[in-house]
Amino acid sequence: MNLIIDSHEDVAWNIINLGRDYTHSALDTRNSEINTPKPAFNGNTLLGWPEYQAGHVAMIFGTLFCGPRRLEKSTYPVEAYSTPEEAHHCYSRNLDAYLKLTDEHPDKFRLILSAADLSQHWQQWEEHLATPAEVPPPVGIIILMEGAEGVREPAEVERWVEWGVRLIGPAWAGNQYVGGTREPGPLTQAGYTLLERMAECGLILDISHMDHESARQALDFYPGQVIASHSNAEALIRDINTNRHLKDETIQQLIDRDGVMGIIPFNSFLDAGWKDRGGRDAIGLEMVVAQIDHVCQLAGNTRHAALGTDFDGGFGVESVPREIETIADLTKIAPQLIKKGYNQEDIAQILSGNWLRILQENLP
Ligand SMILES: [Zn+2]
Repeated sequence: MNLIIDSHEDVAWNIINLGRDYTHSALDTRNSEINTPKPAFNGNTLLGWPEYQAGHVAMIFGTLFCGPRRLEKSTYPVEAYSTPEEAHHCYSRNLDAYLKLTDEHPDKFRLILSAADLSQHWQQWEEHLATPAEVPPPVGIIILMEGAEGVREPAEVERWVEWGVRLIGPAWAGNQYVGGTREPGPLTQAGYTLLERMAECGLILDISHMDHESARQALDFYPGQVIASHSNAEALIRDINTNRHLKDETIQQLIDRDGVMGIIPFNSFLDAGWKDRGGRDAIGLEMVVAQIDHVCQLAGNTRHAALGTDFDGGFGVESVPREIETIADLTKIAPQLIKKGYNQEDIAQILSGNWLRILQENLP
């Protein structure tokens, strides 16, 4: 059994917008949402504390996320922003959700802010894995800002770091800093200044959602640690119709910068036409493993591939590979990797070791 680190979950967004309580089991949450519009809007949840425990998911990168009102097409009411002030407010509400969750349930969720926190947390989990404790350790949360519009101006980065943010992905759609998904474009002047402030603060840069051009620019420019928290390899996605994923040359550049890439087990990001090609039954974990293997083959080693599920980030159990019922089933990736020729040490790196290294080297 391996420990798992998942580098992308929109936990706060779901707490705020859907009232989800992740101290409960995923199955309880699903039951409580029968006869509500929530499953149709965001899918049936994949997340819950008992399932984190069952899968030995020791740590997640919990996002701060809020979208621009101009792209909010759903009839389900969610928080969104039209101005920098509103964005700041909305991202602050996300942060408050993590503070409240970890304050009220310190036995279940814990913020990881420093290398010291990390080392203590990881040791507790390793001991638990060796000899299961009666009271299992809490799930660790590292705060990742997805879309930098919560940062009203680059100088404000420092404040967000004081408040607990440890990684920033400047893009979601395009914004004042950078071209992004569906809204391509380069890094802007403000974007370069943002990266300078981030580097001064020792933040990890997340290039997921950046447009191809801005991702390459950021990889060239950023002196600090670069990762992709939730991106797949474009080369393997059948019928790809978006700039959302990474071209091989970008993956190679990320590898050259000693970055790590979290692979997403979301069917549309494995085969864009999956619904017309047999649906969920036709998509298996071997496609996730193929994504992991692609990164490992480009690198010639297993130091750069990891998991970034994006679970509950706009999709649910209906849209993930057929073997996955909840986050607990990430453990099923290990035997698939063995089938592909990976050894135990490789698997430990992919499931947690690579993210652990990035965090050990970069947390304050
Ligand atoms: Zn995302």
